[in-house]
Amino acid sequence: MERIVIVGAGLTALRAAERLREQKFDGEIVIVGDEPYKPYHRPALSKQLVTGKLASKDLFFPAYHDIDAIWRTRTRAHKLDHGRHVVHLPGGEELKYDGLMIATGVEARHLAGAPRHDPRVHALRTLDDAIAIKETLARSKGRVVVIGTGFTGCEFASSCREMNRDVTIIGRSKTLFGKALGPELGAAIGDLHRRHGVDLALGVDIRHWATGPEGVAIVLSNERLITAACVVLAVGSMPSTDWLAGSGLVLEDGVLCEPTCHVVGASDVVAAGDVARWPNLRFDGVPRRVEHWLNAIEMGRAAAENLLAGKSRAKPFTPLPRFWSEQHHVRIQAAGIPAIGQQTMYLSTRPNGAERSITGYIRAGKPVGIVGLNQPRTMIHLTRQLDQKLRPMVPTTERARTPRRTPVENPASSTAETLSERTPSNAKIDVNELSARLTAPAMRNGR
Ligand SMILES: Cc1cc2nc3c(=O)[nH]c(=O)nc-3n(C[C@H](O)[C@H](O)[C@H](O)COP(=O)(O)OP(=O)(O)OC[C@H]3O[C@@H](n4cnc5c(N)ncnc54)[C@H](O)[C@@H]3O)c2cc1C
Repeated sequence: MERIVIVGAGLTALRAAERLREQKFDGEIVIVGDEPYKPYHRPALSKQLVTGKLASKDLFFPAYHDIDAIWRTRTRAHKLDHGRHVVHLPGGEELKYDGLMIATGVEARHLAGAPRHDPRVHALRTLDDAIAIKETLARSKGRVVVIGTGFTGCEFASSCREMNRDVTIIGRSKTLFGKALGPELGAAIGDLHRRHGVDLALGVDIRHWATGPEGVAIVLSNERLITAACVVLAVGSMPSTDWLAGSGLVLEDGVLCEPTCHVVGASDVVAAGDVARWPNLRFDGVPRRVEHWLNAIEMGRAAAENLLAGKSRAKPFTPLPRFWSEQHHVRIQAAGIPAIGQQTMYLSTRPNGAERSITGYIRAGKPVGIVGLNQPRTMIHLTRQLDQKLRPMVPTTERARTPRRTPVENPASSTAETLSERTPSNAKIDVNELSARLTAPAMRNGR
């Protein structure tokens, strides 16, 4: 291979390029990104950047290795012709590749009806979004409204309280993160937000928007009127795949990949990071996307290795997903895929209630995830055990390597049904019991 092109200039791209050089690839690496910046620390946008603990310049990270790449920032790829091995760039430019990595991430979802052209209404995905939010916050001390009950919105609301701002979270679901962590833990973290002064308007729809000099007015389905100086739309994300329309690749909630990160139907193309939907054989054969920072690193590196190895020698990418969040100084850590759990097992809560706990998520008698609040040490121990317990399934045939085109199943979207059907659990167990479950050699209904 003489030239490898990576489309998308985020963390995935940077770590993939490093891995290519570590693997002694000495051809050309071209990284095409539509933002004006080289990769930066996106998680800080809703946390340290907004509170002022870090400035924009602190978010850029150096490469761990000299990647000697050609950076094409401010350049949006607008078409892929994989038969001709060409990425189309603005101005009619055709960029040829011998190997291609798709790492275009996700973009913020729009909310129909929201006055998103009003300068006080923002999405929160990019550094430019975060800078614009900070400017709006500086112009008025009025109430901040966050629409959406996911991680980004909740982290941002927590940052607002740290700055002593009045903040309301508006959401359709009755609890926070209902889809990702289940209703019980979502309710507990909701209480944490309330205790820290966040106003939660949950289980409601937005009926009406109006803008005026005094703020952005929002009328809710329960007739409540809220006036905001700043509105942040945090209603989820969509994979950035519009540029791949017509390419022949399978685009269903992301780019469909084989277990090795190779894109289905194209042997010289891999995908990685938030945009990739692949079956993690550690869990099952269902393709899913994972929107976590650590996954961007690990998948970028694995996809780079597999691109160089070629499809026949490539290895399945079977990580144990892990993520963290920080809200009101509570560290939330997760391992596995809690969203596919059908039952939860609670550890006894400590005297300070929900601020210190661990929840286990079980599917078909088998642990599939754990979520800890302010329990970093125990989480290290249990994550190690979960890692042992969930050994990857080894594919034996070519058929097993190619993912089924199942309906989209993604923690960020359809797992809502899985969780709402979750067996109610009020069992309080001890950490040793969860630990025992994780180490048990065979479990009923398990593999
Ligand atoms: C506010 C915020 C807070 C977060 N906090 C956490 C956290 O606490 N913990 C955690 O685990 N994860 C967190 N995440 C998620 C984490 O940041 C992502 O999983 C990670 O950044 C994904 O990296 P990526 O390289 O796959 O995609 P991205 O970082 O989205 O990079 C993709 C790049 O490709 C560009 N692009 C898109 N289309 C094109 C095109 N056609 N041509 C050229 N370029 C294109 C995009 O503009 C973008 O720059 C957070 C995300 C956000 C937005």
